[in-house]
Amino acid sequence: MKQLKEKIIPDKYIPEAGSHIETIDGRDYLIANDAMYTFYRRTKGEFSDFFLAIRDQKKLLGCKCTQCGLVRVPPFLTHCPDCNFAPTEIIEVEQVGVMNSTPPITYFATSLFQDMAPYGRGRVIFRGADTAMSVNLYTTNGILVPGLIKKGTEVKLIFRDKRVGDVKDIFCVPASELTKTQIRKKGLQESEIDWETAVQPKLPKANNNDLANLKKTVKEITSIVIEMNRNPRARKDIAGWKRNILVKTKGGQFGLFIRDGNIRVGKAPSSSDFIIVCEDPRTLLDGLAYRGAITDSVINKKLWISKNMEFNTIFKLDRMARSVARTKKM
Ligand SMILES: [Zn+2]
Repeated sequence: MKQLKEKIIPDKYIPEAGSHIETIDGRDYLIANDAMYTFYRRTKGEFSDFFLAIRDQKKLLGCKCTQCGLVRVPPFLTHCPDCNFAPTEIIEVEQVGVMNSTPPITYFATSLFQDMAPYGRGRVIFRGADTAMSVNLYTTNGILVPGLIKKGTEVKLIFRDKRVGDVKDIFCVPASELTKTQIRKKGLQESEIDWETAVQPKLPKANNNDLANLKKTVKEITSIVIEMNRNPRARKDIAGWKRNILVKTKGGQFGLFIRDGNIRVGKAPSSSDFIIVCEDPRTLLDGLAYRGAITDSVINKKLWISKNMEFNTIFKLDRMARSVARTKKM
């Protein structure tokens, strides 16, 4: 496999040399960027075969006791403690399994895992195995919300396109979201899955009230967005960020456009980076007005977004609302 040329610390995390002033309670403080280095190498030790099988062969390995036949995945024992330390042998298990428990979902991850959130983390018993293995869980259908993956849900193991030989190389999605061919295929990769056309929640038919509600709400959102554009803190929250967002509501649709510090409301774009579906546009309005977070509305299934990684954008919108609220307080 081709080695990746990325650096351990990506360039974007390396601060510029220099200094700047931060004013806290009316006093100026000089802040300078500095660095402290610690790099280390870590061996996967006896787990090397397991991770190499994932990286190079897209196989999931376990160990089978030569005496009692118990299959442990991952293969963490070379000898079975239940059988007076009889040797185990490496075997391959299947890549479809069942959730052993209902996975908790991480929405706000530490910086190390932020690009992966939201994700579920739970234990899966793969076919052919007797023990459960911890894996990260995603849905192909927008964002992972409670109830989508539960104890007993059948899941399929998916391999990242770029694999380096660690736990992040694999994750699971519900088997019900895949075709039969995909479920059967060994070594199914993330790029073979359709992440783009997530099934959107259906909106009920609009009546006159809904049309009027949308018109009124868009007007209110527009005035909030104008306020955000005037707020340096809020502008900073979306610095370097560009998104065309299509917002679909019961009463109709509109667009939200983020352009490196600027945010604007307008006509629904013909193509968008992602889609928001919320039956009542006031759900989005309330979030932008800092009356409850939009992230909470996503988690509570009042507002749906089409792509998992765009939770980041939702998070930024919440930050902008907070920045405006904080400025008002001062
Ligand atoms: Zn045994």
